[in-house]
Amino acid sequence: MMAQYLTLREVAGDCLLFYRMGDFFELFFEDAKKASQILDIALTTRGEHHGAPIPMCGVPVHSAESYLARLIKAGCRVAIAEQTETPAEAKKRGGSKALVARDIVRFVTAGTLTEEALLEPRRANVLAAACEVRGTVGIAACDISTGRMELEECAPERLGAALARLGASELVVPDGWELAPDEAIARSGHEFSSEGGEERLKIIHGVATLDGFGSFTRPMLAAAGGLIAYLDHVGRGALPLLLPPEARSGEAALAMDEATRASLEILESTQGGRKGSLIDAVDRCVTGAGARQLADDLSAPLTDRHAIAERLELVEWLHDDAMLREDLRSALRALPDVGRALGRVVAGRGSPRDLGQLRDGLSGARAIGARLGERDALPGLLERLLPDLGGHGELVDHFARALVASPPTERGQGGYIAEGYDAALDELRVTSGNARRAIAALEAKYRDETGVTALKIKHNNVLGYFIEVPARHADKLMEADSGFSHRQTMAGAMRFNALALHEEASRITEAGAHALAAEEAHFEELVATAVSARHRIAKTAAALARIDVAAGQAERAAEGGWARPEVVDATCLEIEGGRHPVVEAALAMQGERFVANDCRLGTHDRLWLIGGPNMGGKSTFLRQNALIVLLAQAGGFVPAAAARIGMVDRLFSRVGASDNLARGRSTFMVEMVETAAILAQATDRSFVILDEVGRGTSTYDGLALAWAVAEAVHETNRCRCLFATHYHELARLAETCEALSLHHVRAREWKGDLVLLHELADGPADRSYGLAVARLAGVPPKVISRAKSVLEKLEKGRAETGGLAAGLGELPLFAAAQDHREEQCDTLRDKLRDMDVDALSPRDALEVLYDLKREA
Ligand code: ADP
Repeated sequence: MMAQYLTLREVAGDCLLFYRMGDFFELFFEDAKKASQILDIALTTRGEHHGAPIPMCGVPVHSAESYLARLIKAGCRVAIAEQTETPAEAKKRGGSKALVARDIVRFVTAGTLTEEALLEPRRANVLAAACEVRGTVGIAACDISTGRMELEECAPERLGAALARLGASELVVPDGWELAPDEAIARSGHEFSSEGGEERLKIIHGVATLDGFGSFTRPMLAAAGGLIAYLDHVGRGALPLLLPPEARSGEAALAMDEATRASLEILESTQGGRKGSLIDAVDRCVTGAGARQLADDLSAPLTDRHAIAERLELVEWLHDDAMLREDLRSALRALPDVGRALGRVVAGRGSPRDLGQLRDGLSGARAIGARLGERDALPGLLERLLPDLGGHGELVDHFARALVASPPTERGQGGYIAEGYDAALDELRVTSGNARRAIAALEAKYRDETGVTALKIKHNNVLGYFIEVPARHADKLMEADSGFSHRQTMAGAMRFNALALHEEASRITEAGAHALAAEEAHFEELVATAVSARHRIAKTAAALARIDVAAGQAERAAEGGWARPEVVDATCLEIEGGRHPVVEAALAMQGERFVANDCRLGTHDRLWLIGGPNMGGKSTFLRQNALIVLLAQAGGFVPAAAARIGMVDRLFSRVGASDNLARGRSTFMVEMVETAAILAQATDRSFVILDEVGRGTSTYDGLALAWAVAEAVHETNRCRCLFATHYHELARLAETCEALSLHHVRAREWKGDLVLLHELADGPADRSYGLAVARLAGVPPKVISRAKSVLEKLEKGRAETGGLAAGLGELPLFAAAQDHREEQCDTLRDKLRDMDVDALSPRDALEVLYDLKREA
């Protein structure tokens, strides 16, 4: 056994090995130590290896899933070694001492789960592969629980942003790739071949060319190759559900990098977890599939105006008709998760219950489609989705006839094929039913014959059927000609067999075995039916999810008085009465009201500098506007009275010096790296929010950087931007930057107390309220009054020297410096153009070089 174990251990590689022994999965050696610690189960020993006891722990097979879930959550991967023959088969093969054959049947990894118990219903579970082909990165991603697969490519520097959007639970990359993130799993480089990937995809989908699915580049196909090779590996050759790949183009989505996603807390709050995130405040979907689609929508908002308008039209239609919406939502709520049931069935891990879910889900979809179809003037998107809801009539009817109303999750006991579906099966059931009744009748007969009223016919797994009497009445049955044969003596009872009982029992066993085999055959046939219809079933699941998202968005909008945004091509951002959905919800819990604020950016007023006291609501205002853009481009209503949004191509959000030390770089370094990315990438169609950038360093450095960044954003990037800062001195930028304006959050001191109004007003902040905020926060009065006298001294000094920004008036404007440089370049360029290189002697050429150098 040890030899067999060690061979499998070798195959398992860096995964924990679950070694099946009867009703347990056992773990040995280091695996046992690690697993027992994570699972908090007993670590024991068993036998010896090289003279040392072997550490061991085990988990029962019937509850293995919950243990697996915990191991996966803790970041482990697990290889499952099953017994591939029964002990009886092993004996037949190799005599009584033969070892049962075992093999690794699959690997359980975070990215390749299909089990309902291991998956979160409202979150997609993504497995991704990435690689690089001639300077371009290819990414393949799939959710094997539903089969969705998408391929994209991007420049190497956008890899982080692309992976952040996907939020994969597992990532595979070619071994030795420089760009690979730390947590990625390295696989052999030759698996990432574009020819191989293309070939596999063609075979999987039975097509001669992939053109029908979209246009895929070499890097995309190479990544697909790596992804499929990994799926082969973990499934030991059995591929899960894979739907035709979709090409995802970077341009089709609003670009957001990792830092932006994190700071806007789209799917997760900075504390981790869904609570406090945007999706938590928005999601009103009634199905898991809807919630997963919404997460996808919010991770990749659109940049196609028509596609956005189409989604908005559907949301509005459902928003305006509350009755219809409620009706639709209650119908959707009752539906099982068709996409995931299909995923399990295609992966070969489906149960009768999954088939029942397909039946119920598809018939529910048909009913929803029929009801919607009765209405006229359907929104365009719905019109297109409608055909996907139906078209399963035959399959639904077939499954309805074949399966009982609520089929079990286990098929070992049978009983899931409905009566009337198969006459032979019904016959077998009648036979065993008759035999059961005959056995019940035998009990009465034997009691009569023996006169023992306490006689009982019982059943267990070891003996099958037997007759049991109390020991003191056993004599009668022990007599030689009684017709009973002794089987077992228990404390206080004796067990017997009888010919008639034996015959009826065999009838039950035989009929049972045949019935089970018949049910198995039907099961396989139903699975095959579902597998061959997988593409259409997946389409239905996707249509249901899309409708659920729209209905949920409509519900949320109705609940919060949200408005339909207008998405236009101009570079404007006009939001009237905007609110922050997460902060508003948090305030509502405390019975407080959120103060709505307007935002009005345009080509001639594109940078707002926002000052005012700490806790005044600056961050909230910045973020609410970014979130409104994001929600609008995802095709939903927005928390505002009205919104007119010029389509945004890239969204950036930066927060100065948040506590990022855990990531191993100094906070200020992170702040600057992230700011550099904005200056390099933001276009005049982008929207940027900068929250106290420059805060992470000394006052002079910070002010200087904030000043230069604001200028660059204004002059070079020319994007729409909200810039929150506590540097009063920045207000002077308004003198030179014509498209920059000053704003502040209002506060008032009232009877010595600071009142924060959370209201945005035009003009610079009149003063700083640092001391008042400190008092509000409970800093002792003695310290406050000391600070007051220090402040007075400082302010006196400032008045005399002109303050921090003294002399900045003479600083040539950023843009002016640039103009000068460009002028210089032009002269050089002219000179070079006029030069006849062929006519120059080497000596003259050298002279020209000296000339140019002097001018540079
Ligand atoms: P700042 O960035 O100016 O320091 P924040 O935006 O972090 O301030 O806001 C501080 C707190 O003020 C928030 O946690 C919230 O409770 C409250 N707040 C912010 N904006 C509003 C608003 N518009 N209406 C009501 N309360 C608000």
